[in-house]
Amino acid sequence: MCRHTSLGVGGPAECLVYPETLGELAEVLLLAKQYQLPFFVLGSGTNLLVRDGGIKGIVLSLSSLCSSYQFEGYSILAGAAVSLPFLVKRSTEQGLGGLEFAAGIPGSMGGALYMNAGAHGFSIGELVLEVETMDYDGNLKRRSRRELEFSYRSSTFQQEKAIILSGLFQLAPGDRLALKDQVQKNLRKRRSRQPHYPSAGSVFRNPPGLAAGKLLDEVGVKGLTAGGAMISQEHANFIVNMQDARASDILFLIESAQEKVRTVFNIDLELEIRVVGENSRE
Ligand SMILES: Cc1cc2nc3c(=O)[nH]c(=O)nc-3n(C[C@H](O)[C@H](O)[C@H](O)COP(=O)(O)OP(=O)(O)OC[C@H]3O[C@@H](n4cnc5c(N)ncnc54)[C@H](O)[C@@H]3O)c2cc1C
Repeated sequence: MCRHTSLGVGGPAECLVYPETLGELAEVLLLAKQYQLPFFVLGSGTNLLVRDGGIKGIVLSLSSLCSSYQFEGYSILAGAAVSLPFLVKRSTEQGLGGLEFAAGIPGSMGGALYMNAGAHGFSIGELVLEVETMDYDGNLKRRSRRELEFSYRSSTFQQEKAIILSGLFQLAPGDRLALKDQVQKNLRKRRSRQPHYPSAGSVFRNPPGLAAGKLLDEVGVKGLTAGGAMISQEHANFIVNMQDARASDILFLIESAQEKVRTVFNIDLELEIRVVGENSRE
């Protein structure tokens, strides 16, 4: 899985499946149920820490099935595997605004919906008109915005057993140059604040009213290393893979950082990144 995650760590998937039709997807789900195989839906792997023992059962990628998009008036219908940065670029070129906040957030549309990805006070859930999912029994469901819940890095999808297939998003007409300018501004801001080594973005969620990065900075964890991993010098809420890090190195840093913040501030930092898979037996 190190080849399928932005952190570049993680043991092997037992089985990585790329269904090409909805029928094949439903068949995979049926087989998983029949043989009681666990399965995990992979987006672009930019919010994932896969443990060194890899992932048991089936890892499902929608990249051969949900990769198309189309503009429909002022909205855009995008498959779950379409890249969010690509959609930001295309909608800006089209003179449609709304997604500028997402400039520089890597990952797929499905992953963004699942995580309710956001930045600069906006998040993807605010643009949703409709989402189509397939549940684990192979049933398709199309739901409108008011049937779905989104909050800080959280969505309905985290509570249910369903695969996001596509989303319809409301955009608004805008001036192409002004939109492009805003996108560039957001990208520059990121480049100046975020580390350039492989990471999975912010490791911890911000506690209500507080910034996890600031708390971590104040307890002095920046620069802490374990194996090939380090708590970024640039941004204390990022753990970076400096060289050949293992998931166990990153997990060690996560626990050390949590421990320090607990001791100094009596606050339990919750993970924003998703930790999946098995510990290595080595
Ligand atoms: C440098 C960097 C900067 C980042 N900055 C931000 C930021 O500013 N704001 C922000 O919110 N995030 C940020 N992130 C985190 C990450 O990019 C987002 O969370 C992104 O939306 C994850 O999408 P993904 O496709 O990579 O999902 P993955 O990491 O592959 O998966 C994340 C979760 O979504 C689930 N999932 C993915 N696709 C589907 C689907 N089709 N159906 C059901 N479940 C699915 C997975 O099972 C998993 O639980 C950053 C990451 C990096 C590396």
